[in-house]
Amino acid sequence: MKLVSKHHSDYQEACTGWNRAINHAPTLIAFCESNQDIISAIKLAKHHKLPICVRSGRHHYEGDSYKDGSFVLDVSQLQTIQLDEIAQTVTIAAGVQNRQLYDTLAEHNYPFPGGGCPTVGVVGFTLGGGWGYSSRYLGLGCDNLIAAEVILWDGTVLLVDAHQHPELFWSLRGGGISVGVVSKMTYRLPKKEPIATRIFLDYQLPNNEAATTLLLWYQEWFPSLPRLINMKIVLYRNQQQILGIKLTGIAYADERETKKLLAPLLKQPFLVTNDCKSGPVILANRWIQDNHPEFEYYKSGGRFVAKGLTEIQWRMLGKWLSQMPIEATYAAFTLYGLGGAVTDLSPVATAFAYREMQFIFGSQIVWENPEVTKSCQTWLQNHWPAIEMMSTGSFLNFPLHPQAETNYYGQHFTQIQQITQQYS
Ligand SMILES: Cc1cc2nc3c(=O)[nH]c(=O)nc-3n(C[C@H](O)[C@H](O)[C@H](O)COP(=O)(O)OP(=O)(O)OC[C@H]3O[C@@H](n4cnc5c(N)ncnc54)[C@H](O)[C@@H]3O)c2cc1C
Repeated sequence: MKLVSKHHSDYQEACTGWNRAINHAPTLIAFCESNQDIISAIKLAKHHKLPICVRSGRHHYEGDSYKDGSFVLDVSQLQTIQLDEIAQTVTIAAGVQNRQLYDTLAEHNYPFPGGGCPTVGVVGFTLGGGWGYSSRYLGLGCDNLIAAEVILWDGTVLLVDAHQHPELFWSLRGGGISVGVVSKMTYRLPKKEPIATRIFLDYQLPNNEAATTLLLWYQEWFPSLPRLINMKIVLYRNQQQILGIKLTGIAYADERETKKLLAPLLKQPFLVTNDCKSGPVILANRWIQDNHPEFEYYKSGGRFVAKGLTEIQWRMLGKWLSQMPIEATYAAFTLYGLGGAVTDLSPVATAFAYREMQFIFGSQIVWENPEVTKSCQTWLQNHWPAIEMMSTGSFLNFPLHPQAETNYYGQHFTQIQQITQQYS
């Protein structure tokens, strides 16, 4: 186990997260390489009376995985992936990231219901529910979890599944974990998929009215799509003051069938980019991954909407975009598609509380110059109370503080509290 403190030359690098707007100063960072290291690190943190933050891919929006004054228990070096085609499972260690898992499974033609960003940790993604472009086809990431290895704060190692510690297993599936460290996760393998089509469409709108018309139409039409397609639709304004709507997605179908399914969307006016290409599933994922930057300065949060937003609300969002700080490079409001396989499970089957919502509703602002951080963060924070009025809950994977925990867990809040007490 390697320990890094403020006295080490690599301290700064060791506390840099994907969101560069977060500057936290943990007291100690422990890079663990085995379960024994994790157990030793927990003891060391207790000895120094430091609160533990578990960290893997460093993508927490608000930097909760490396808080000020904390002991960061970093599991990113735990890197094994075990594919078992006979048992039809894949087991990953806690440091595995989206891209590694996609690549390994793709060698055998398996897709995976992971996220779009290549460097997000798969365990963290799953603990928060796990939305992706395959969610309507294969379910959320957490719906595909069948077992986990958990190291509790007292060092006990538990195998957790539907039969052993079923309540803890339930809460790992979308309810996060505060009783220890997940060292491994096992997923059932989806069926092999020979082909997928990645979808990228961009509309550049002359005005807010045109954008609102397209968004209102889209949110009515989207639920009628078969589950083999999932997309996110983004209303954005960029530094060139272009107001646009872009869609990114994946269809488990060839290009011809995908274009047929998308025909009503492709007929909408102001379409400037229509880039849909089919090929092996891995190419669709790689294209999406390669379009992610390596890091960003941003503020972002995600809530849920049951069906969509009203005309007045979309107009209001478009107006806010036109007032984004000139220092910002980009601001956006996004609907991430749910439905399909996400609703195959009952709302109480896992700790993810928002299965019946049609969309995750994301709000985001991005900038490049660290000196404008305050004004850009303030823009989103000022609109947040109104955003809360037009939406519900909060997506654990897209957190924005201050946010009551009740919002993340919804109807499952009390149950998750009880499970936390039971295993603490
Ligand atoms: C650019 C970007 C794109 C994203 N895209 C998506 C997306 O498409 N879909 C989606 O659902 N989410 C997405 N997310 C959110 C992401 O899934 C969550 O932030 C997730 O928690 C990140 O895990 P991590 O290991 O990378 O981050 P970290 O910051 O290292 O960890 C985040 C939190 O996860 C928990 N955690 C992680 N590993 C463990 C472990 N082994 N044991 C116990 N707890 C652990 C801890 O509570 C920790 O605070 C995205 C985030 C970013 C920044």
